[in-house]
Amino acid sequence: MKRILMIGTGGTIASEMGGDGLTPELSTEQLLSFVPSVGKECHVDCVQLYSLDSTSIEPKHWVGVAKTIQEKYDDYDGFVISHGTDTMAYTAAALSYLIQNSPKPIVLTGAQKPIWFDGTDSKRNLCDAFLYACRGCGGVQIVFNGKVILGTRARKTCSKSFQAFSSVNHPDLAVVQDGRLLQYIRSEVGEKPIFYDKVDTNVGLLKLIPGTDPALVAFMAAQYDGLIIESFGVGGLPEYGDMYGILRRAVEAGKILVMTTQVPNEGSDLGVYHVGGRLKQNLRLLEAYDMTTEAAVAKLMWILAQTRDFDTVEKLFYAPVAQDILYSNS
Ligand code: ASP
Repeated sequence: MKRILMIGTGGTIASEMGGDGLTPELSTEQLLSFVPSVGKECHVDCVQLYSLDSTSIEPKHWVGVAKTIQEKYDDYDGFVISHGTDTMAYTAAALSYLIQNSPKPIVLTGAQKPIWFDGTDSKRNLCDAFLYACRGCGGVQIVFNGKVILGTRARKTCSKSFQAFSSVNHPDLAVVQDGRLLQYIRSEVGEKPIFYDKVDTNVGLLKLIPGTDPALVAFMAAQYDGLIIESFGVGGLPEYGDMYGILRRAVEAGKILVMTTQVPNEGSDLGVYHVGGRLKQNLRLLEAYDMTTEAAVAKLMWILAQTRDFDTVEKLFYAPVAQDILYSNS
């Protein structure tokens, strides 16, 4: 029988109703007691790492999960992490950089309704997650509402309905239907995992709006060593307020800038319009292409923990990790 380690971090799935709303309180053992059928598929041990609404998950918690998996890696065949849905896509992306090439499945799941609610999605998601941890592919993935999504490609796209996650710019890897796994695509994994234990949190994300104050761009560029700018469409920078000059000076000061798009699908292509091409041709900055913003944030944190040298940052950023980037003309 397969041995699976379940790591609890909190989230709706483990929440109880308090006076002012849902709060994560149930332990991993309590969650498991709602899905006795899992015991027929595998032997499960539990670790209660955190009891947090995922709104409060920080990069240090990603590192904590990765460390736990590293310490226990040889003792188990797979890992199930129960997690709040709100920032699960960030955690899935971060774990994809902190634990690379894992031949064993590392599965995140959670729910939109607590496990004790009538008609909850928790039980299905937990059962499917254990099934995938036992029979699925290695690497980091989210199993949710019957879909298996690559950790670097997930985004929360519905705030209430059970179909909470979408795979962005990449097909779903598999589906789980009535306890059967249909594996459409196998994730690329190695023979041995490579673990990292650091991220650099000196990374900011700025979403542009029409009329964004250039002072805000200057502030963000001064505040962070790595700044991701979520622009419009395929990407560009407004021409008012000397924003170009602000970014040029930031690059000259050694800041790492990444242009991406706030459009949900198909990614950036900065060279198409003058407002983007001017940046691309003249400044040493990066663009995220088809990467999700969640993956770009986590990847930049992972990279900046290793180097600030632009050439090395560029090489690492464009080198695919867990199929996080498929297209780049750099
Ligand atoms: N606020 C909750 C969380 O992210 C939402 C959920 O789990 O669905 O922890």
